[in-house]
Amino acid sequence: MVNPPYRAVDDRYEAGMQYSRCGRSGILLPKISLGLWHNFGDVNPLSESRDILFYAFDHGITCFDLANNYGPSYGSAEETFGRIMQSSFRPYRDEIIITTKAGYDMWPGPYGNWGSRKYLFASLDQSLRRMNLDYVDIFYSHRYDKDTPLEETLQALVDIVRMGKALYVGISRWPAEATEFAARYLRERDVPCLIYQGRYNMIDRGVESSGILDLAKRCGMGFTAFSPLEQGILTNRYLHGIPEGSRASKAKFLKPETITPELIAKITQLNTIASDRGQTLAQMAVAWLLKDDRVTSVIVGSSSSRQLADTIRSVDNTAFSPAELSAIDTILNP
Ligand code: NDP
Repeated sequence: MVNPPYRAVDDRYEAGMQYSRCGRSGILLPKISLGLWHNFGDVNPLSESRDILFYAFDHGITCFDLANNYGPSYGSAEETFGRIMQSSFRPYRDEIIITTKAGYDMWPGPYGNWGSRKYLFASLDQSLRRMNLDYVDIFYSHRYDKDTPLEETLQALVDIVRMGKALYVGISRWPAEATEFAARYLRERDVPCLIYQGRYNMIDRGVESSGILDLAKRCGMGFTAFSPLEQGILTNRYLHGIPEGSRASKAKFLKPETITPELIAKITQLNTIASDRGQTLAQMAVAWLLKDDRVTSVIVGSSSSRQLADTIRSVDNTAFSPAELSAIDTILNP
């Protein structure tokens, strides 16, 4: 069956999405971005991936977060996005921020991983081909590489921008000291680091204790939080066991043994706080991140447009009372 051509809804910017300035830059990012790590590979029905992307764009989500190896199989999330770009999103290209990354294993041999200039250039060229794009909006170094001189990785990012293959660059999962070095190196070459992408949620607060959140702000970078729902743990998904088809049931990135009765007891208490606030737990978890003005955007994952419809409403209430915050901390004991 042939689908009718996609036309974005006219009131997509009146659907309630809010936008924040990304560090000291001209870019506004939606408070909620959509991540394509899971659910967009060649193992997923294209119609479901398409539904989620259309729902997102129709509700003001203008930032789509990808990486070279998202799938499975590697590269296939970019191919899915590329197909939808070609068939549907092309007229809206200038309304969309598309990001990709390189830094993890992508192809065999010594040049398909980590932070060399050789890898970053080849990977981005492949990503552009898969996504049917001339340029991405943000290209990230996906991880810190202790064995490659930082200057090599960073100069590759500078040159990628100068060649017009990316408009901005970012870094993900870099430690604090290297982040500070990156900020300085890139600023001195007039290609300021737009954004830091780090793991942050109510359970995992590493970017608070490492100083990354403060550092990003001080250096004029935005900060975007990934795995805000702790891969689904901070939702109602596992309150009554491990449902078939859920991420934990696949036992790869989220191990079922993580979902212990002790954890579920805590999640149940958090769920009560969320419902007292008139929110679902997923909404409260994202709102908890958005209460902090150091957080520019939160990158959520969704396995259906129904989940995204739920999560997206977190922007409606991001204010927490001191009592709520302290109750959350007492439960999680961070
Ligand atoms: P989340 O923590 O948002 O987890 C997403 C999962 O939670 C979904 O797949 C779904 O699980 C479940 N879920 C989502 N919404 C709801 C809801 N409303 N109710 C119930 N369950 C829900 O994020 P991800 O771990 O997927 O990461 C998000 C994005 O962050 C990635 O796509 C990627 O773009 C980025 N990322 C970046 C990394 C980096 O190294 N820079 C590393 C990891 C992620 P289920 O599938 O079981 O339905």
